[in-house]
Amino acid sequence: MRIAVIGAGAVGTLIARELCRYEAEVLLFEREPDVGWGVTKANSGIVHAGFHDEPGTLRARFCAPGNGLFPELAEELEVPFRRTGAYVLAFTEEECATLRELRAQGAENGVPGLEIHGREEVLAREPRVNPEVHAGLWSPTVGITLPWELAIAAVENALANGLELHLGEPVTGIEVSQGRVRAVCTGVGRYRVDAVVNAAGLFADHIARMAGLDGLALHPRRGEYVLLDETTGDLVNVVLFPAPTEKSKGILVLPTVDGGLLLGPNARDLPAEAREATETTREGLEEVIAGARRLVPEVPLSRAIKTFAGLRPESPQKDFVLGDTEVKGFYQAAAMRSPGLTAAPAVARWLAREISLAHSLPEKTGFRPKRKRIPHPADLPEAEWEALIREDSRWGRVICFCNRVTEGEIVEAIRRGARTLDGVKFRTRAGFGRCQGGFCTDRILAILARELGKGPWEVTARGEGSRIVLGEVRP
Ligand SMILES: Cc1cc2nc3c(=O)[nH]c(=O)nc-3n(C[C@H](O)[C@H](O)[C@H](O)COP(=O)(O)OP(=O)(O)OC[C@H]3O[C@@H](n4cnc5c(N)ncnc54)[C@H](O)[C@@H]3O)c2cc1C
Repeated sequence: MRIAVIGAGAVGTLIARELCRYEAEVLLFEREPDVGWGVTKANSGIVHAGFHDEPGTLRARFCAPGNGLFPELAEELEVPFRRTGAYVLAFTEEECATLRELRAQGAENGVPGLEIHGREEVLAREPRVNPEVHAGLWSPTVGITLPWELAIAAVENALANGLELHLGEPVTGIEVSQGRVRAVCTGVGRYRVDAVVNAAGLFADHIARMAGLDGLALHPRRGEYVLLDETTGDLVNVVLFPAPTEKSKGILVLPTVDGGLLLGPNARDLPAEAREATETTREGLEEVIAGARRLVPEVPLSRAIKTFAGLRPESPQKDFVLGDTEVKGFYQAAAMRSPGLTAAPAVARWLAREISLAHSLPEKTGFRPKRKRIPHPADLPEAEWEALIREDSRWGRVICFCNRVTEGEIVEAIRRGARTLDGVKFRTRAGFGRCQGGFCTDRILAILARELGKGPWEVTARGEGSRIVLGEVRP
């Protein structure tokens, strides 16, 4: 049995990993040169509790169970995850009524520990919150994680369990005959398969159409963010939500796992064809700042280091599209808007099991669930850092001063598959700090060129069309 998973975001990589638990050949196709560069790259990174989603939706069905799987998953894959808890803040009587509705909705969705706290308690726990707050819905199970690291870790672990990975290989066609999937086609070749999982994020409707299914229509809903540096992370301790709107969970203020602070996202619907429109806008960022200041008036904007935007894959049904279809062997894990990251582990486990039952796949013996992350010496006790340096002096050479990333980490990231500056950045956080690569890009580029046996002008930031060095000025 051969199964092709299309899309190496959080959803596709976790599905591929779960499928590796069964007796099957699993192939993962990704059009980008690396893992986790789609929707998974730019979002809030919140592991939601599950109170935002209307009971009866697939979002509600998979969010709280997904949240429940995160501690074990994060431990197995050594991915950062912190259960911070969250407040939904109410500033009017109407918003207080919304908190009560969310609490009831959460209880119906199986979300534990929801409580409404009065103004004094909210301000005692979170002194930087706007003193005009009336009440807060406290949710202890909300957490934060690094979405792209989850995808990278899931792939590394799946590779150790037999995955065949095809990066930089967009799927261009799906062969279906007599109502059954037969093969996937890419620019490189034709791969005979018995099943296909469509986890192509913003492009899942294109993939569904390749299999002859027209029922899925996606359009991007852009969310813009402002990221503040690691001197601001202790301004708030928990994720702060406003009362949600029809369209989104609203503009948030939250700590990041790196110790920074994230403000955003807003929500702007874009035309269906604007699936690469990840630029930020003045209007959008002003909306984000105003929204953040409503929750925490003293947000220190002078500490901003980056603005960015992500695109939500929105569908008219406002829900995930999951499971089998009228084409035998074609499965969907599509329209994964928020809380898709949170739901991903539960969706992956459920879908892999559905496929195993439908195709009578026995469980494989010897599946190894653990993956080791790249050591970050700056987080280690000094004796352990010294031991690493004795093994290889490159573990002692700091390349990214902001995040104290060593040459040893960068070389290890390249050994594990990084081929671009972003590939190194997402695996090690080199270039992710206050200077945003201003002081280390040339050094990382030189290491990439050396390790890959290329000229520096052949190294890119993120694949085709993003070269940094254009050529030699003097030979
Ligand atoms: C602004 C914003 C905030 C969000 N906040 C949260 C949050 O806090 N918590 C939460 O739970 N969820 C959140 N989400 C949702 C979450 O980010 C997504 O549900 C999740 O990342 C979707 O992952 P995915 O794997 O389905 O998609 P993607 O990460 O987009 O992966 C799909 C992959 O398919 C690839 N692909 C596309 N076409 C092809 C092709 N033809 N051939 C091969 N590969 C192809 C793409 O390149 C991509 O890498 C947010 C989303 C956004 C945009």
